[in-house]
Amino acid sequence: MKNNLRSRLTVQFVLLFVFLYFSGGAVAIFVFANQLDASLDDELQDLACQILPAVDFPNGAPSLRRWASRAEARHDKLLSTVQVFDRSGTILEEFGPDGYRHLRRGTAIVEESSHEANPVHVRSRFLEIMEAGEKTGYLQVQVSVRQRDDALRQIVLTMVTLSPFLALAVALCGSWFSGNATRPVEEMMNLLRQFVVDAAHEINTPITVIDASVQTLEETFAEQNLTDEILPIITRASHRMRALGESLIVLSRMESPEYQFSVTRLRLREIIEPVVAECEQISRRKQQTLEVETIPDVAIMGHAESLERMLLNLLANAVRYTDAGGMVWLRFEVEGEKLKIIVEDTGIGIPKESLAHVFERFYRVDKSRSREMGGYGLGLSIVKAIVERHNATISVESKVGSGTSFITVMQIAP
Ligand code: ADP
Repeated sequence: MKNNLRSRLTVQFVLLFVFLYFSGGAVAIFVFANQLDASLDDELQDLACQILPAVDFPNGAPSLRRWASRAEARHDKLLSTVQVFDRSGTILEEFGPDGYRHLRRGTAIVEESSHEANPVHVRSRFLEIMEAGEKTGYLQVQVSVRQRDDALRQIVLTMVTLSPFLALAVALCGSWFSGNATRPVEEMMNLLRQFVVDAAHEINTPITVIDASVQTLEETFAEQNLTDEILPIITRASHRMRALGESLIVLSRMESPEYQFSVTRLRLREIIEPVVAECEQISRRKQQTLEVETIPDVAIMGHAESLERMLLNLLANAVRYTDAGGMVWLRFEVEGEKLKIIVEDTGIGIPKESLAHVFERFYRVDKSRSREMGGYGLGLSIVKAIVERHNATISVESKVGSGTSFITVMQIAP
C-alpha cells in the first residue's frame, strides 16, 4: 500500500510537472513570439517613415528609383525589401530581397524567392504615399523573420530535449517527497493492521473457553438425557466469531507489505484439486452441479495456501449464492503467457450498482441474506488482496437472476 501510494503520488507529480512545463512553455513562447512581432513592426514602421520622404514622382507615379541608385552608389546593402505600389495596390517597384508582392500588414509567406530555396516568412508594413493631399500609392517594407523563427525553434527543441531529464529529476524528488509524506500514514496503517491481528488473536482465547464450556454442557445434558436449543446457537455464533477473527488476520497480513510469504512454482492442478474436492461436497448437499473443466498443465508462481483460499472463497460464494439445482463451473483459458481462471454460476447475480463494491471490506449486497449464510463481507476482500499480492487481476461480470462470473488473470510461470 505504501509503495502503491508513493508511486501513485510520484506519477501524479511527474504528470503535473509535464503538463505545467509544456503548457507554461507554450504560453511563454506564444507571448515571446508576439512581443518579437510587435517590436519588429515598430522597427518596420520607423523604416517606412524614414524612406517615405525619398519617394518622388518622375512620371506622375510614385517611385524610389532615385533613392535606390543613391543607396547603390553608396554601396548600401538593403537588408529589407522596399516596395512601391500604385493607388490600386499593384506593385510598381521592388528593391532589396524578394518580398511578398501584395499589400499586407503582418506576416506573409513568399513562396518563391530567388535567394531562398524554401518559402520565406516575412513581416510586412505599409504606409500611404500622399502627394498634394491626395493618395498616390503605398510604400511597403518587409523583413524576413527567419532568424526569429530559428530562435523560437531552438527554444522549443531545447525544451523538448531537456524534458526527459527534468521529468526524471522531478520523479526522483517526487518519490523522495511522497516517501516522506506517506511514512506517517504507513506507520499508522501498520499499527492498525497489527491491532486487528492482535485483537483477532485475543478473541480466540474466550472463543476457545466458550467452545469448551458448551462442549461440557452438551455432555452433561446428554448424560441427563436433556435437550437444549440454546447450545447449538452458541456453538454456531462462536464458530462464526472464530471465522471472522481468522478472516481479519488473513486480510491484514495480505494487505501488509511487510508480510512476506514464500512463493514457489506450483502446478495448477495441485491448487485446484483439493479446493474442488472440498466444494464438491457442499454443492452436492445443495443438489447443485459443480463442473470442472480439464485443468491445463501449466504452472504458476505463488503461495499455495493463499491461492487455495482465494479459489475456495470464490467457489464457496458461487455455491452459497446459487439456489439448489443450479450450476457452478470452474473454467480455464490459456492465452499466451496468461492464465484465466473463471468461476461461474447460475446464481442470484449481483446488481450493477453493487459490482464496483463487492471487493470492499464488509460489503454485502443483501446484508440479511449474506449474514444468514454465514458471510461477513470479507471473503472477496481477501480474494482481492491475494490476487494483488500475486500481481494478478480479478474482474466480475454478473446479471441479476442469471448468474455471476469471477475472472482471475494470472501469469503462467515459464
Ligand atoms: P460474504 O462473506 O458476505 O459472502 P464476500 O466478500 O465473499 O462476502 O462477498 C461480498 C458480497 O458479494 C456478498 O455478500 C454477496 O452479496 C456478493 N457475492 C459474492 N459472490 C457472489 C456470487 N457468486 N453471486 C452473487 N453474489 C455474490
